[in-house]
Amino acid sequence: MIDIYPWQQEIWQKMMKSQKYWGHALIFKGKRGIGKYAFARNLAQSLLCQSPKTDRLACGNCLSCGWFEQNSHPNFYSVLPEALLAVGNADNTHIENKETGLTAQKAKKNLSQQIGVDQIRQLNDFVYQTGHQDGYKVILISPAETMTHAAANALLKKLEEPPADVLFILVTHQVQHLLPTIRSRCQQIAMPVPNMETSIEWLKLKGIDNPEFILPLNDFSPLSAWSFVQEDLATPHQHFVDQITNGKKFDWLILAQSLQSINLARVTDWLQKWCYDLVSYRTTGEIRYYLQFKSIIQAMSQQIDLITCVTFARELNNHRKLSHHPLNTRLFLEEMFIRYSEMIHGK
Ligand SMILES: [Zn+2]
Repeated sequence: MIDIYPWQQEIWQKMMKSQKYWGHALIFKGKRGIGKYAFARNLAQSLLCQSPKTDRLACGNCLSCGWFEQNSHPNFYSVLPEALLAVGNADNTHIENKETGLTAQKAKKNLSQQIGVDQIRQLNDFVYQTGHQDGYKVILISPAETMTHAAANALLKKLEEPPADVLFILVTHQVQHLLPTIRSRCQQIAMPVPNMETSIEWLKLKGIDNPEFILPLNDFSPLSAWSFVQEDLATPHQHFVDQITNGKKFDWLILAQSLQSINLARVTDWLQKWCYDLVSYRTTGEIRYYLQFKSIIQAMSQQIDLITCVTFARELNNHRKLSHHPLNTRLFLEEMFIRYSEMIHGK
């Protein structure tokens, strides 16, 4: 589908008017789940399209668009970490939203979460071989911050002596993690973040019930909220809340077992947000993420020991980093839930 998100209309028009200032490399930066990757692909497709529409979006019907949509366009090259390639090129939403931490099945396959130097070196063949058509070539690198140090340096060399008629597009959730020397050679574009109202409206149009509850839980990113529903996470998430609010009957073994096929970083994030709300309610009377569970949070927040809860929330931060390389998914979850149980029961 060739369409841009409602909150990207303005930036699209601006970009179309300023093409002569793009230079040979662009960075699309901004938080996860706002459609940067889809926007970058749309831009690439429109540059390669043989008969773009009046708004310069790709036509979706020409030979070039056909190749592009099948990921076989000879003048388009996309560089993703292996782990994201496994998600499938076609699924823009999922590619942008995937946490780098993997589900248990994928972690077993040991797919790389990084963009390696070989992947950047392979660009040479693409850049210096003649494409099947004359004209522009487009290289899309996403998420650019996952490049290894060697990969980033290899890319830097290319940006220092940019080949003619090649446009590099880097997509990044964390622009500060890119080499300053790379950043300075690219035109940086801050991608717009939709406000709550726009996001809710978009999710409603997608047929999603209760977007006002799902959105905060997914960092207020409409695409992350959409993925949450698409990946059928509402049921496991409800089970998660049922258990962690179950007081003395909380069964961490059962919970760890039932969540072991879900992305670990995601589960850690759910618990982190829960603890954030407990602390926040206790100290300010406000919550941020679990809006539909406000009365439960209100009751629980009175029972916890504030300092223990804050300490535990910090611990979860470290836990989250480890979640990318768990030795044993089940143990990882059990340990985290046991600690939570100790925290709420004041041990
Ligand atoms: Zn076309």
